[in-house]
Amino acid sequence: MDLLDTLTAKGLRGETPTREEALAVLATTDDELLDVVAAAGRVRRRWFGRRVKLNYLVNLKSGLCPEDCSYCSQRLGSKAEILKYTWLKPDQAAEAAKAGVSGGAKRVCLVASGRGPTDRDIDRVTDTVAAIKDADPAVEICACLGLLSDNQAERLKAAGVDAYNHNLNTSEGTYGDITTTHTYADRVDTVQKAHGAGLSACSGLIAGMGESDEDLVDVVFALRELGSDSVPVNFLIPFEGTPLAKEWNLSPQRCLRILAMVRFVNPDTEVRIAGGREVHLRSMQPLGLHLANSIFLGDYLTSEGQAGQTDLDMIADAGFEVEGMGESTLPRHRADIAAAATSGCGSGSAGGGCGTGAVSGEGETEGADAAVGGGCGTGGGCGPCGGHGHAVPAATVGAADDKDADKAADEARTDLVRVRRRGAGTELAPNA
Ligand code: SF4
Repeated sequence: MDLLDTLTAKGLRGETPTREEALAVLATTDDELLDVVAAAGRVRRRWFGRRVKLNYLVNLKSGLCPEDCSYCSQRLGSKAEILKYTWLKPDQAAEAAKAGVSGGAKRVCLVASGRGPTDRDIDRVTDTVAAIKDADPAVEICACLGLLSDNQAERLKAAGVDAYNHNLNTSEGTYGDITTTHTYADRVDTVQKAHGAGLSACSGLIAGMGESDEDLVDVVFALRELGSDSVPVNFLIPFEGTPLAKEWNLSPQRCLRILAMVRFVNPDTEVRIAGGREVHLRSMQPLGLHLANSIFLGDYLTSEGQAGQTDLDMIADAGFEVEGMGESTLPRHRADIAAAATSGCGSGSAGGGCGTGAVSGEGETEGADAAVGGGCGTGGGCGPCGGHGHAVPAATVGAADDKDADKAADEARTDLVRVRRRGAGTELAPNA
């Protein structure tokens, strides 16, 4: 297939495809799907080998958000029966983080619901970071606290935070359909603030909200332009009690096409399967590992994931290995960009910033030294989750024969979506 040969060759060189080529990936048929996975899998192995980075979510503050993100179970007016609690104390958060790290996670993602942090909230996170790094100085920490004000990113950096997550979620053209209380431009501004302060930028998307193929391609190219070091790909978890509860637009095949497209557009960037992995990929999760090099371990912010041990078994059974604390996630040339950004030398956008661009040659995965990488965002907070029936364009499901989606439409799937009742903010042990 000419398309796949072209995309593979570009990906192995670290080059991005054209917009038309990215759209063509989403339009492939089920008969072509394994070829698509194999082609994108070669690109994944070129830059990330068979390593899988594990990330662990700690929801520092759950629910009660004044924003109206339609996909989110923590939004204003959400009827989802999620856990609601205010800030965990630093020792409680550190205890929760320990469970993920002992399960193999090298990154802990500290997430708080809300429009954005106050300066007092930054103090709380500073204390929490200290508590986590006291126990294990090597652990990477990503903060996900919403829209940042001036100087807050710098304060987080000084506190020892390694990365900041803030997802663009969907295309600029449809952003106003899913959220009215802040704008796409606000989100871009926060990612740039984080990057400008030397934090590794983690920013991704949510698929399945009724967007078109063009919207998906738009947001994925925007993330590449923004220089995101990590791209979490969330698949909408349609929580009952949220406006998008009936948006069941995804099949496992569609999810794999989306992941392959994201990989081709971001060949040397951490691509993470985030919220909705179990719900939408289901038994096809192992094929997703051939495309993404990063996943969350255990539960999400407000929904349950599969057991952490099941994640580990899946990785081993599929022939992959968990990435160690001492290993760099990003290939060397991308790690160098991030290091340059940390020293105030440019933004690190693809092909630009401080010295990089296309990398030639095929063969062994690059090692690297500097430890940088992804972020977080998933499962229901300032990442992904529920949705909204209002004003969202009709679902476009590409070329796939999405029988699952048709069957499931208009039905609540409580068999697939379970509200988190354990881990952070509860008395019960986490599943990692
Ligand atoms: S995504 Fe974040 S800002 Fe939006 S409603 Fe959810 S918690 Fe609030």
